[in-house]
Amino acid sequence: MSLLVVGSVAFDRIKTPFGEQDDILAGAATYFSIAASFFTEVSVVGIVGDDFTETHEAIFREREIDLTYLERVSGGKSFRWFGEYSYDFNTRTTHDTQLNVFADFKPVLAPAAAEMTHLFLGNIHPELQANVRKQSQAKIVGMDTMNFWISGTPDSLHEALKEIDLLIINDEEARQLAQEPNVIRAARKIRAMGPKRLIVKRGEYGAALFGENSYFAIPGYPQEDVVDPTGAGDTFAGGVMGYLAATNNTIEDEAALRRAMIYGSVMASFTIESFGTDRLLKLTYDEINDRFRTFKAITHFEEHLHEF
Ligand code: AMP
Repeated sequence: MSLLVVGSVAFDRIKTPFGEQDDILAGAATYFSIAASFFTEVSVVGIVGDDFTETHEAIFREREIDLTYLERVSGGKSFRWFGEYSYDFNTRTTHDTQLNVFADFKPVLAPAAAEMTHLFLGNIHPELQANVRKQSQAKIVGMDTMNFWISGTPDSLHEALKEIDLLIINDEEARQLAQEPNVIRAARKIRAMGPKRLIVKRGEYGAALFGENSYFAIPGYPQEDVVDPTGAGDTFAGGVMGYLAATNNTIEDEAALRRAMIYGSVMASFTIESFGTDRLLKLTYDEINDRFRTFKAITHFEEHLHEF
């Protein structure tokens, strides 16, 4: 199986109440591909400038991530983003977004990329997402979006949503997209827009999976060491899609999707322990499976009904 992700490869400046760092190698496709690389082969479709050097490339190479389809613009500058977190990490303010080479990004899939079995459309303009979707023959297509597109380009977004197997967004976005304050109702409305399955992320409180007639929810990993939550959502998606691609399950396989969600949460729980991808890059398979087991333990209970 093969997995393709299209999305931003960026440099971030991040400020938290506990520290600040600049020029962090980041972006949705970066977090996604590093997380997915623990499960399967993954290729990145994106665009960077000269500031993306041999040192950055080596980081992807180390994880055997394929950069054949990463476009390089000589004389150009990569996408740059500056975000700041509140004391409890629940609010994020964007101070600066510089699209740079990303502004003219119009991905065209090479034949080998179009044939990849799994595709993830990272958070970019929904017209581009729809365009890439049309070029691909993938059997499972995942997608992300954000409030900016939900309010700014709703028609294009609705078009892009039509041919999607799995949409992964956060609860605020789900409410906004469905124009419905109740998340359960919102999920039903969103699935009627196209996505066969929907995962709603709830930050530190976990995530919920909505299917045909099914509902599954998990808590967040009990994490004490939060340093920088940036990329948690993309890492989550990388774990989910990476697991699905590695195991070749169908989107209808509820048990597999539930496991995928656990792996996504496990991967995200590591990302937030450091600035950028530092923690992810040091990760071992034993650490991943330890946290997978922790999820099993903290969600398990016996069916021992009380005799009233
Ligand atoms: P997340 O924390 O999962 O929402 O992802 C944050 C990453 O998305 C950061 O590394 C940013 O570089 C990147 N990012 C922020 N804004 C955008 C945008 N408008 N388009 C694409 N990528 C973005």
